[in-house]
Amino acid sequence: MRACVLRKCVTPSGSQAHCTACHETFTAVSHFDAHRVGPVDRRSCIVSIGSRMVIPPATPDGSEYSLWFEDGLWSTDEGHSDRRAASARMAAARAAKGAK
Ligand SMILES: [Zn+2]
Ligand SMILES: [Zn+2]
Repeated sequence: MRACVLRKCVTPSGSQAHCTACHETFTAVSHFDAHRVGPVDRRSCIVSIGSRMVIPPATPDGSEYSLWFEDGLWSTDEGHSDRRAASARMAAARAAKGAK
């Protein structure tokens, strides 16, 4: 995923994805894909409502879900708690290293 030089946006790391249209950053490409809606030649971004983005069902019998904005990133509830757990583990590892 290209970094966005025009707006000096954050460079997405790892599996993150940055939208060059609405300049939001997502924790996964699947969330990025989900926020692009409409016909292929006229794709547009879902506009967030505060810190929430409501993703419409991908299929007629599917259900909508929400992405939440936290620490500059859009993700699902589960995605954010995974991310928090990972950074807590990293902080603990750093602390353990420092203690030695
Ligand atoms: Zn977008
Ligand atoms: Zn950008």
